[in-house]
Amino acid sequence: KVLICLKNFTCLILFQDTGVGKSSIVWRFVEDSFDPNINPTIGASFMTKTVQYQNELHKFLIWDTAGQERFRALAPMYYRGSAAAIIVYDITKEETFSTLKNWVKELRQHGPPNIVVAIAGNKCDLIDVREVMERDAKDYAESIHAIFVETSAKNAININELFIEISRRIPSTD
Ligand code: GDP
Repeated sequence: KVLICLKNFTCLILFQDTGVGKSSIVWRFVEDSFDPNINPTIGASFMTKTVQYQNELHKFLIWDTAGQERFRALAPMYYRGSAAAIIVYDITKEETFSTLKNWVKELRQHGPPNIVVAIAGNKCDLIDVREVMERDAKDYAESIHAIFVETSAKNAININELFIEISRRIPSTD
């Protein structure tokens, strides 16, 4: 007998700097495509995707949030109801890795206590212009018990893996 259960949860993408690739990651995951001229996120957009993993169906409810300063005040509204947060930085821009740490602090202070945090170092196809070492990011992620992967929305690297790992870490509601 094959048992398929549905894990239903909200997942959230957040970030400070526009341009790290949040929308592209969501687009790759939901539509399996890449649009180099994707529109900058205005406010927050919402998408869902259901994937089967082993014998479970996982439904992802994804908020793709704008990272602008003006969004900061609204951020708690989104992450309070979320089981997981993905914080994206751009491996070719050191400053996006530094600001990521502020989001982690913010989440730890004001987010749900058991929120699963995932860190995605996006644009890993651009290794020639890398500014953030994978080792440093990995060590940091381990120190805060966060999931860590380097991703490329462009070349479809580690995008599904990121979401599957998140789903594995979230306890079933049944
Ligand atoms: P957001 O503002 O964080 O949502 O970022 P976008 O998804 O709008 O992406 C910003 C820019 O980075 C766009 O020009 C994308 O085409 C580009 N981009 C996004 N992901 C990748 C990636 O994995 N590799 C490369 N080379 N470019 C990417």
